[in-house]
Amino acid sequence: MSGNAMHLRRSGRYRSSILQGPTAIRPTRVVDIKNALGPDSHYAAPFRPTGANSSATGCTSSSTGTLIDLTALNQILNIDPNGQTVTVQPGVRIGDLVRELSDYEMELAGGHDLMSRTVGGAVAGGCIGPSFGDDSAFLSSQVESIRLITPAGKPIEIRSDQKNLLHAFRLSFGMLGIIYEIKLRVRPIRTFPVTHRRCTFEQFSAVAEKLANVDVGLKFFLMPFRDRVYLDIRRVSAGETATHRIPWKVKDWGESTVLPNVFKSISRIVPSSGIRYRIIDEISNLTQGIVNNRLVSSGSNSTALSSSTKTNDAAKKLLYSTWFFPAADFAIVVQAYRDFCFRAKESSGFRCDMPTVGFRLGKDDSALLSPSFDEPMIALRAISTQMKGWEDFAIDFGDFARHWGGSPLFNQTLEVPADYPAHVFGSRLDLFRKIRRQFDPENRMMNPFLSQYFL
Ligand SMILES: Cc1cc2nc3c(=O)[nH]c(=O)nc-3n(C[C@H](O)[C@H](O)[C@H](O)COP(=O)(O)OP(=O)(O)OC[C@H]3O[C@@H](n4cnc5c(N)ncnc54)[C@H](O)[C@@H]3O)c2cc1C
Repeated sequence: MSGNAMHLRRSGRYRSSILQGPTAIRPTRVVDIKNALGPDSHYAAPFRPTGANSSATGCTSSSTGTLIDLTALNQILNIDPNGQTVTVQPGVRIGDLVRELSDYEMELAGGHDLMSRTVGGAVAGGCIGPSFGDDSAFLSSQVESIRLITPAGKPIEIRSDQKNLLHAFRLSFGMLGIIYEIKLRVRPIRTFPVTHRRCTFEQFSAVAEKLANVDVGLKFFLMPFRDRVYLDIRRVSAGETATHRIPWKVKDWGESTVLPNVFKSISRIVPSSGIRYRIIDEISNLTQGIVNNRLVSSGSNSTALSSSTKTNDAAKKLLYSTWFFPAADFAIVVQAYRDFCFRAKESSGFRCDMPTVGFRLGKDDSALLSPSFDEPMIALRAISTQMKGWEDFAIDFGDFARHWGGSPLFNQTLEVPADYPAHVFGSRLDLFRKIRRQFDPENRMMNPFLSQYFL
């Protein structure tokens, strides 16, 4: 977290308590949130809402004030198959929602991994996956309306016709209030064919521009030290394609649960980094080869998102940082990323043990703070199970990303200098700040991490 800590402004309108570490509360009723934020509250600012708390940055933490855990507000309130909407409380896990929707032959638009995350966190923070067809890049773009408690403790609704306000509330990282109800657009389940390819970085770079500009769902795994790229390419299907849930479950289990746990164990028992990384890369290669190339040839957002909300607990503990690069430049960036990984390893001895995961994101201007507001982007998520050396790597990855015009997402991107977002988001950041000041003139939702960018 940056050392740019700011003091929160106090006007005396709200009670202030002696600051002594954060208090954590887990409301079970909406009125509990209202009381916690209201003028007679006994809880101290700053207030920081959390869902599954799988964010990588300091946006969900605070050393003082009140952490509000929304996971107990976990009811699916209404599924309307005719109107193609679902209304949920913020603590509903994405995996549980996907399962429930499938009983109605419905699904979420867009593929979004990590099923244990919450709908509230996915809407207020980033939730991306391979998007294609009429899928938008961020799950938050499917929001029809939301209800929230403002930083002053007042319940309000932002309706679908209040488009400009909705643009600010999507990806608002809990700065504009605490969302307690969300209405999302959903759709009938659609199947898509999936193809898998294995190639070198050079071959990937040669086709990257084409892939970036065609309408396919692209997810990939980069293994720089093996010069290997695994591609998962999804296309719009003209007709029905048979699809099965079990292969996707095995695939998810391999990628999200087995690999992180195995790599953690190997790092404990194999002291020599040369041998350790050889074993780790061999296992990654085998897993990618088997689960992607052999198991899965078709799917839907319903099957591709069908994993248990519990098996992702191992994945939740991973260290990661995601940057977004213009898709038009990616043919060069992906080669430069490989060189960067080699340089980082050479200078510090550190390398990520997990493959770097990437997605193609379509242009999505439904949120002011969307990294793909102006053009399609490619997300690169560096992931490690090992803490030692990670922080320096994340700083270097940040330098690399800024050099190549990378855009951040405030809950997933580490090491973003305080003045950088102004270059990327320009007048959209100014507008968001203005709206934020109107909703929270007392800065009651601001912790030091967010203050460096938004005060
Ligand atoms: C292994 C792993 C895989 C991941 N895969 C993906 C992926 O494929 N795609 C992707 O986009 N992300 C991914 N992530 C990142 C992260 O999971 C997402 O950003 C996720 O949407 C956050 O959801 P959450 O419930 O954990 O939210 P949290 O981390 O708890 O919160 C996210 C933000 O929303 C705010 N917030 C939470 N609830 C509310 C509320 N009710 N009202 C207002 N504000 C609120 C928080 O203050 C915070 O700023 C991954 C993370 C890990 C560890």
